[in-house]
Amino acid sequence: MSITENYDRVTERIAAACERCGRDPKEVTLIAVSKTKPEEDILSLYEHGHRVFGENRVQEMCRKASDLPSDIKWHLIGHLQQNKVKNAVQAACMIHSVDSLKLAQAISKEASKRFLTVPVLVEVNVAEEESKFGTTSEEVADLVKEIGLLPGLSVKGLMTVAPFVADPEENRPVFRKLKQISVDINNKKFDNIYLNELSMGMTNDYEIAIEEGATMVRVGTAIFGERNYGITGE
Ligand SMILES: *Cc1c(COP(=O)(O)O)cnc(C)c1O
Repeated sequence: MSITENYDRVTERIAAACERCGRDPKEVTLIAVSKTKPEEDILSLYEHGHRVFGENRVQEMCRKASDLPSDIKWHLIGHLQQNKVKNAVQAACMIHSVDSLKLAQAISKEASKRFLTVPVLVEVNVAEEESKFGTTSEEVADLVKEIGLLPGLSVKGLMTVAPFVADPEENRPVFRKLKQISVDINNKKFDNIYLNELSMGMTNDYEIAIEEGATMVRVGTAIFGERNYGITGE
């Protein structure tokens, strides 16, 4: 199957998942995760009409952004180190991986210098996996509140990376919990905070995530095929 055929299949499955739970497919943004993949793969989807791509490394995102058409929207979905904030702010239309006040402050500083307001999501390690980034379910409300006070960035919602599981149903409670956390935060009515976006669901579990309220799904393998980390040095 070609990348565009894979892509069409994913968009059909997104529509079917929306249908099952009475949602409008327009509420769900498909982020095609192109990390480690060559620019020609991205271009073939671009020519097919897709504009929204996800990368997990700042350097790779910036290189692709400067080589490829300027109307592509780049989402930074991977962990962000403070020394990469400047480039991230310039190239990303949204940063999904804010997980500390220090990182938010660094983004605020860079964005303010450029008179930008960067849309961000706060990453929550819902499943409390040791290997994962993200703030805790307990701390996220306070963190969102603090970030709401900073200039230069705007918290749009929450993001999580669910565990790798054999049966995607196992992640349903993780997605449901992230949704509940966002509802609870909205009920607190913090200044400058209204959380609309839930970035959750990947190749193995995006349909379940949609049933639980995802507004952004991050799908790589199901579109571009398996990644070969050996060749790219990751
Ligand atoms: C790589 C990656 C994805 C996509 O994973 P697939 O299983 O290939 O769909 C989604 N989110 C994040 C944060 C990633 O790093």
